[in-house]
Amino acid sequence: MMKENQAFQCRFCGETLKYTFVDLGMHPLCESFVGLDRLNRMEPFYPLHTFVCHNCFLVQLEEYVDPRSIFTEYAYFSSYSEEWLTHAKNYVTMIIDKLGLDENSRVVEVASNDGYLLQYFVERGIPVYGVEPAVNVAEAAIKKGIPTVIEFLGLETVNKLVAEKGRADLLIGNNVLAQVPGLNDFVESMRVLLKPSGVITMEFPHLARLMEFNQFDTIYHEHFSYFSFTTVEKIFGAHGLVLFDVEELPTHGGSLRIYARHVEDASKPVTSRVVNLKDREKAEGLTELSSYFSFAEQVKETKRALLAFLISLKRRKKSIVGYGAPGKGNTLLNYCGIRSDFLDYVVDRNPYKQGKFLPGTHVPIFDPGKIEETKPDYVLILPWNIKTEVMKQLSYIDNWGGRFIVPIPKASIYDEKGEEINNYFDPK
Ligand SMILES: [Zn+2]
Repeated sequence: MMKENQAFQCRFCGETLKYTFVDLGMHPLCESFVGLDRLNRMEPFYPLHTFVCHNCFLVQLEEYVDPRSIFTEYAYFSSYSEEWLTHAKNYVTMIIDKLGLDENSRVVEVASNDGYLLQYFVERGIPVYGVEPAVNVAEAAIKKGIPTVIEFLGLETVNKLVAEKGRADLLIGNNVLAQVPGLNDFVESMRVLLKPSGVITMEFPHLARLMEFNQFDTIYHEHFSYFSFTTVEKIFGAHGLVLFDVEELPTHGGSLRIYARHVEDASKPVTSRVVNLKDREKAEGLTELSSYFSFAEQVKETKRALLAFLISLKRRKKSIVGYGAPGKGNTLLNYCGIRSDFLDYVVDRNPYKQGKFLPGTHVPIFDPGKIEETKPDYVLILPWNIKTEVMKQLSYIDNWGGRFIVPIPKASIYDEKGEEINNYFDPK
């Protein structure tokens, strides 16, 4: 349960980290897809051992890998998920209205990826720029006409950004906070980049839901930190930023969207949603160290149940393939030891991944058309956060009696209409 680790200190408060949250063993980098030419070579594996800070309750992974080696070429293009695009579009409509943004405003997005979100502000004539360190995705954004600075945001780069491009009325950072090793440096840079009356909105997976729904597969080397609202409020507070509102979103299995402002900006009072969420986190035990100790056993049981299920299918000579090659899929497959002994192949819509092999497990990746060709009995949905979208796209597997398996929060079978089938231990 506990492990001494003298070298590793909390990336927010600096306390020495003593307590394991969960140790998932050794893993390759989850976005390092393997080409045919590298299939017979060694592959680097790094620990996926998360700790919880006894002082601020930040759950975190040591920085085993230099983020520059992870994020300078990145396989994740946000625009490949329709559900995520809809989410982005709805946000833009809402926030333009809420903040009264117009052609005199400036919107800045950190980790703007391929411009999946900023494009909707551009459509409405609102000036934008993105900050994105991954050269290949940033170039895709620039091609679409989204001004993008190819940089990591930090104290080294922020003053240059302010001087050349200006401060933000709205500063957005979605699914980036977890990916920042220098957390204090990053949040301080956000403060510098924000106009005195500006608003920051950020979305990130909620630690409370990760724990409640066994989402251990969202732990990977790209995600250095895992946040409760209570902890994020402390971090922003330490940098002169007040969280004045919060929304709970269904994205990524349960995310938070926080709204921050400068502490001096009294025009935006703290809402009751902030107070309520903090009360609920306290009631759920997130402000007590002991609550974090039961998660590791929950993870092991999730692995045992999924394997028992897949083994029973293979003993009945059923064929199983995977849908999607997301980061979380690689954590799940590597942790559970699921390779081509269970999965014939996986498919992914991202052409960048097709023709390559999953890191660690070396399961081959094909175009989604492969499913119709080979007619598998079961399709394991690895990006379970978009399972509804996937089941809709693949509803044709019913033509040959195919069914879906969703691995998280516990292995379950779904029919082609997306209805859960309850005879879990007696699959057809
Ligand atoms: Zn701490």
